[in-house]
Amino acid sequence: MSSSKQESFPKSKRSEVMSRIRSRGNKDTEIALAKLFRRQRITGWRRHLEIRGRARSPLRAVARTTGAHGVTRPTFRVRPDFVFPKSRLAVFVDGCFWHGCPRHATKPKNNRAFWRRKFSRNKARDLFVNRELRKLGWRVIRIWECSLQRRPMNCLRRIRQAIAVEVTQRRTEARRLRAFAGAERAAAKARFEQELLGAA
Ligand SMILES: [Zn+2]
Repeated sequence: MSSSKQESFPKSKRSEVMSRIRSRGNKDTEIALAKLFRRQRITGWRRHLEIRGRARSPLRAVARTTGAHGVTRPTFRVRPDFVFPKSRLAVFVDGCFWHGCPRHATKPKNNRAFWRRKFSRNKARDLFVNRELRKLGWRVIRIWECSLQRRPMNCLRRIRQAIAVEVTQRRTEARRLRAFAGAERAAAKARFEQELLGAA
């Protein structure tokens, strides 16, 4: 993505152009990942599903809502690019330009201060979103636009692993619960038999 195009626009036009570039760039990468999922038979995902929670930071991801007792309390909302609700996994595809990929982060020559602020805000927001999601018990995977292009199978492996771990964990927990229920039942049966013996 070249920055020279945006620099020729006046300031008022710039943000409009930027948001258009951003949405289109991201969309292409998202569509590429969705195609890959379908081709590789990865299921259980939805796009842009909203995840909510409470958060403390006053970043843009936070919308102020009124609580039950009229107390203003911040609510965290985010729509990850892909959400695997059952595995509690959120996947983001990050454009190299906007999110500052270490390989391809270009630094536009004009309006340096503007861009520096813009990029650092984007990065801060990404970190904030990661942290909040993890606090809510979500797994977060971020995929660089360029990694998806160069090594799609590596990206896919990370996602598969995250899903597999979750499934294994759930199975282990379910087994533990079942074992516990079985032990409880056995103890209750023993108690009942004791009582019967006592009554006889
Ligand atoms: Zn990159």
